[in-house]
Amino acid sequence: YRSFGIDRTNSMGINLANDDQLRTLAEQVNAAARAEWRAAPLVPGANAAGPDIAVTNPADRRQVVGQWKAADSATVEKAVQNAVAAHDAWNMTPAASRAAILEHAADLLEQRMPLYIALCTREAGKSIPDGVAEVREAVDFLRYYAGQARRQFAVEPLPGPTGESNTLQLSGRGVFVCISPWNFPLAIFLGQISAALAAGNSVLAKPAEQTNLIGYYAVKLLHEAGVPEAVLQFLPGDGATVGAALTKDPRIAGVAFTGSTDTARAINRALAARDAAIGVLIAETGGQNALIADSSSLPEQVVKDAIASAFTSAGQRCSAARVLFVQDDIADKVTTMLAGAMAELKVGDPGLLSTDVGPVIDEDALKMLREHAERMDREATKIAEVALDAEAANGSFFAPRAYTLKSLDQLHKEIFGPVLHVVRWKADQLDAVIDQINATGYGLTLGIHSRIDETIEKIASRIKVGNCYVNRNQIGAVVGVQPFGGQNLSGTGPKAGGPHYLPRFATEKTITVNT
Ligand code: NAP
Repeated sequence: YRSFGIDRTNSMGINLANDDQLRTLAEQVNAAARAEWRAAPLVPGANAAGPDIAVTNPADRRQVVGQWKAADSATVEKAVQNAVAAHDAWNMTPAASRAAILEHAADLLEQRMPLYIALCTREAGKSIPDGVAEVREAVDFLRYYAGQARRQFAVEPLPGPTGESNTLQLSGRGVFVCISPWNFPLAIFLGQISAALAAGNSVLAKPAEQTNLIGYYAVKLLHEAGVPEAVLQFLPGDGATVGAALTKDPRIAGVAFTGSTDTARAINRALAARDAAIGVLIAETGGQNALIADSSSLPEQVVKDAIASAFTSAGQRCSAARVLFVQDDIADKVTTMLAGAMAELKVGDPGLLSTDVGPVIDEDALKMLREHAERMDREATKIAEVALDAEAANGSFFAPRAYTLKSLDQLHKEIFGPVLHVVRWKADQLDAVIDQINATGYGLTLGIHSRIDETIEKIASRIKVGNCYVNRNQIGAVVGVQPFGGQNLSGTGPKAGGPHYLPRFATEKTITVNT
């Protein structure tokens, strides 16, 4: 391939340390929040007329923030037909022109940051700083894949014998289905879509049911920027119906999926069962992420980074730390400091700048977390539980908590919320700790806290994860700087926001001419 050079085109966002800027932004976000948003399928020629489904604010379920309509089976069929028909023209559009449209969308998104933060806050329960990060990442994806398309989709001359010209060219595969989760409803949603579009595919976009409003306004923005309506269509609906119908359709070329490992497996099976060309699956899935701290690490820094890694976004990040492996010698100090720091966390309305931890996404998530906490209360030792105020009863709030476990075996699956588990280890057990983490089968992020180079090198080389962070928190990968994605049960690769992502959405053609 042509150069995989990295563009440093990251969005500046706003300075979150500047109180004035933050206050002004909060005012703009509140002003941008409408009484009600509306979303529906965006499929030219389809007559969707299903019932309205209400969206309520995760921080206060009494507040309806919008309505959406699901795509029915006729709408899905029309969308697939449109996408097949629209593909060739989009694929023949020069990569530079496709890139320019995506860059225009990035500019529009940056200009309208308050609206998109308002959507993230009210539909997905994101805090304002999380909302800023979400918009920045979405902008970064749009610009990054645009830049990569310019480079990687140019015709590449190859060496060959005299009298012959050989070239290699990438082009779109066909119709791509993009299926995203609710926890990064703008950034991951637009990241998948922008890559598929940049590579010359037509796209059928299915957001998570919990975040249809954000998806709808993101697709409208891409249309406004110049993506033809039949090239990018929006299909809100249940994963088991709309998502499953799309992924088993023989006319689609591939699926870009982010979500749970179980759903990725179901999609893989659906693609394989089709009587069609072998479909491509790009899957980014769950994790059982650990943070290893040895006795040379600074307890203050371990605690600060563990709190950020475990509780930012109410722990609803695939990269979030779930298990802190702390060496015995510093474990008492770390757990005492952890409890003290957690007592300072403010759980509440994500629209307020004073809030550290907002709600979880819905009542199902809350139920799963409560069940886990009940089991932990019986089987583990509680280190701390953050207090909730009376208002929390109106929303889907779960008090962040931390437990000491006897062993990692007590965790059976990814716990997607603000729960940190602590496991102690002794000096001669470092290899066993690494083995246990690798044995989970997941391989997304790992944090290391140590001031011993040999220890850091040993862990980093033996651990099977996609993203390893040393002496800092393990969340918030930056597009083009920390390409993101896991191994094994955590994903198929290639990494989002990295140079190998776009070619996965493309076919390669070699043309040999006898001159
Ligand atoms: P999920 O339940 O797997 O859902 C993800 C998406 O798949 C949703 O749009 C869902 O639709 C759809 N879906 C469900 N069943 C389907 C089927 N049979 N066929 C096609 N599509 C189907 O995951 P989630 O709860 O939304 O997200 C949380 C998970 O995502 C966690 O495991 C987290 O670790 C992972 N995640 C990973 C990354 C990463 O980069 N590795 C990033 C973010 C999140 P509906 O919701 O409408 O049913």
